[in-house]
Amino acid sequence: MTPHTTLSNQTVPTTPVGRYAPSPTGRMHLGNLYSALLSWLSVRSRGGRWVLRIEDLDPQRSRMEYARLIEDDLVWLGLDWDEGGLDDRGHHGPYSQSRRANIYEDYLNRIIATGYTYPCTCTRADIMATQAPHQSDGRVIYGGRCRPKRMPDFTAHAGIKCATRLYVPDEEILFTDRVYGPQRVNLTHECGDFILRRADGAWAYQLAVVVDDAQMGVNEVVRGSDLLLSTAQQVYLCRLLGFTPPAYAHVPLVCNSEGRRLSKRDLSLNMSELRTRYSARDIIGKLACMAGLIPEPSPCTASELIQLFDWDKVPKSMTVCVE
Ligand code: GLU
Ligand code: ZN
Repeated sequence: MTPHTTLSNQTVPTTPVGRYAPSPTGRMHLGNLYSALLSWLSVRSRGGRWVLRIEDLDPQRSRMEYARLIEDDLVWLGLDWDEGGLDDRGHHGPYSQSRRANIYEDYLNRIIATGYTYPCTCTRADIMATQAPHQSDGRVIYGGRCRPKRMPDFTAHAGIKCATRLYVPDEEILFTDRVYGPQRVNLTHECGDFILRRADGAWAYQLAVVVDDAQMGVNEVVRGSDLLLSTAQQVYLCRLLGFTPPAYAHVPLVCNSEGRRLSKRDLSLNMSELRTRYSARDIIGKLACMAGLIPEPSPCTASELIQLFDWDKVPKSMTVCVE
């Protein structure tokens, strides 16, 4: 169903606005392309707009050169964007997170004003030491060491470098994923109070992504199934900031032939290697077959898939393999 907004007395369909939000920490691999293609097809099949946002929050790992290569790879594959990118096309810029610090500061202050945050002085070692038995997937749950009994006092910590942490409620956060269906997540059990800004001043991905999607008018988020758990944190942040959460569609992670999920270190399936061995049509055909849009991996262009796109065809498994 198309979401609607009310404009005077008439109901008009909202333009779908999707986005691709890569971290420029390496060349794109087949898994990144899979999410990008599905996000692009989802908005293109409904006449929507596509935003390219550069998520370069991590100064140590982000490289301008990778951002340029990501743009070049998207163009080569025929995935065009209407807004964003390194040249900041559009009216909601800047589109690189490293240049949006003042915006995050503003929204962080709004959250601090709600009284739901507190300063946290824990080191990584403190957090590990007070942790309940480790989650099998390596996630760390904050045990609440700095959680104040009374109203937090930021002034007492002025001058001391500390992180800003957000209380999470002991209740289920509900949202519906377009692929995986209804989700209920209790953040107390999944992550505990989480960080919005680190002691070194770095912005948390969770805060940045929520603020950026809202400010850029994004109403549909398509990304890998590894971020399904982050979504509850983001829905909660939307609630605190008064934003309507976007629609979410998480898509299976792409695994290599050994069944391991691809990482930027898997060089064999990254774009520099793929582009020397295959044409753009070969790669798009392969991805389309993995997405259930065509029965065989026959070469085709991204545009040719627009009319074939349907979320119901996308596999509901957590991973899909490249054979
Ligand atoms: N920048 C994140 C990544 O590359 C994606 C975040 C998102 O799509 O919300 O993994
Ligand atoms: Zn702490």
